[in-house]
Amino acid sequence: VFVVFEGGEGAGKSTQVTALADALRRDGHDVVVTREPGATDVGQRIRSLVLGRHSGAGLAPRAEALLYAADRADHVATVVRPALGRGAVVISDRYVDSSLAYQGAGRTLPVEEVSWLSSWATGGLKPDLVVLLDIDPRAGLERVAARGAGADRLESESVSFHDRVRYAFLDLADADPKRYLVVDATQPTGEIAALVHDRVGDILPD
Ligand code: C5P
Repeated sequence: VFVVFEGGEGAGKSTQVTALADALRRDGHDVVVTREPGATDVGQRIRSLVLGRHSGAGLAPRAEALLYAADRADHVATVVRPALGRGAVVISDRYVDSSLAYQGAGRTLPVEEVSWLSSWATGGLKPDLVVLLDIDPRAGLERVAARGAGADRLESESVSFHDRVRYAFLDLADADPKRYLVVDATQPTGEIAALVHDRVGDILPD
């Protein structure tokens, strides 16, 4: 079973990924936690290329999209598919929707082209469930600023960039409601974790 968390900056993905992994392990499942970009050695190098302090800004959008796709191809081939193959629950912090939202809607590349590139990179692997932690970017960016880390890079994008990203995520969820759980990310952490755990329980084999 493949579960993906998506959402904008400051939505609390990493907290919820950890909470779900802990809960599923308590239930007795084999759980693999992973993320994009940067889950593999090559992925780490790609992550520093796209997000490093001296790069990112100025990288051509198509080059950025190809780097995220290369990270994803390596991630799926070496981490996600092997884990799914042995029957683990795989929880990924970000996946294809992040590219549709950031490289597509955010950088304004044609979304259907980014979608094609992702499905080529992954060999068509789709998540069983996408948990979208939805937050107004103004509130999300405030949370990130309060935490200190990474705030500089994020402020280099306009609020309208982050608004496009947010609405792209919501549109993807609207188009395929059975595969999405959309959660208001301003709710208390424990309440969100309970909602997610319940929904994941519905798709796990007994
Ligand atoms: O989820 P995390 O904070 O590690 O993501 C790092 C950054 O990478 C995000 O702030 C987002 O701006 C960027 N990103 C992106 N396109 C993706 C995935 C992540 O621009 N496909």
